Amino acid sequence: MLLPHQPLQDAAVVPSQRGQAREEAGPWHAEAVCRRDEAGLFFAPSKEPTAARLAREEAAKRVCARCPVMVECREHALLQPEPYGVWGGLTAAERRVVLTRRRRRESELRAAAPMPAAG
Ligand code: SF4
Repeated sequence: MLLPHQPLQDAAVVPSQRGQAREEAGPWHAEAVCRRDEAGLFFAPSKEPTAARLAREEAAKRVCARCPVMVECREHALLQPEPYGVWGGLTAAERRVVLTRRRRRESELRAAAPMPAAG
């Protein structure tokens, strides 16, 4: 079984890592629209020009937009965190922004919370 948007060539190269990643991905991946990413939309090839990257990422996001497990996938990629590729309709850079905002918000909430009573 392949992970969401796992290129077939990766499946042949690192089966042990694949098994570990599959466990971490959770059961949602079985419904992923991108389970066989033959088009290579979700991860950048080396030395990809910017215009090609932007077009590829937009195409990947269009696949994500019709995926029934987009919320689960996005949360998985944020919690791991997954450092590369489009997951849950977000690029790696967009996930970093979401995580930064989330951490800032959590910090603000902790700072605003009342101190527990001593004793
Ligand atoms: S949301 Fe996108 S990356 Fe995630 S499983 Fe669905 S198609 Fe794949």
